[in-house]
Amino acid sequence: MIQKHCFECGTALIEKELEEEGIVPYCPKCQQYRFPMYNVAVSMIVVDEETRKILLIQQYGKPSYILVAGYVNRGEAEEHAVVREVREETGLEVEHLRFNRTKFFEPSNTLMQPFGRL
Ligand SMILES: [Zn+2]
Repeated sequence: MIQKHCFECGTALIEKELEEEGIVPYCPKCQQYRFPMYNVAVSMIVVDEETRKILLIQQYGKPSYILVAGYVNRGEAEEHAVVREVREETGLEVEHLRFNRTKFFEPSNTLMQPFGRL
């Protein structure tokens, strides 16, 4: 079980059978199933189509160079998050995007959706 306590009241969750879902964390105080919460993030392989070079950035004053990445806002399409994050981080406009692959990171509960054009 990923979450151990209810996000509403803090009560320790128990495991309870839910029809068609299997075992789901359940708060006995709220009498509610508490489905696991995930963060969704995107990382982007930003490629200059003319030079075929990949853009790396430095973030938060750190010395390392990384791919452009960011969290998907609640209710936001991943494709929109890609365009928004690239614009916010670099000032560049995305012309074409293509989904690459999905990766789940524990223990941060982040589903990473890398986009890239190779
Ligand atoms: Zn609760």
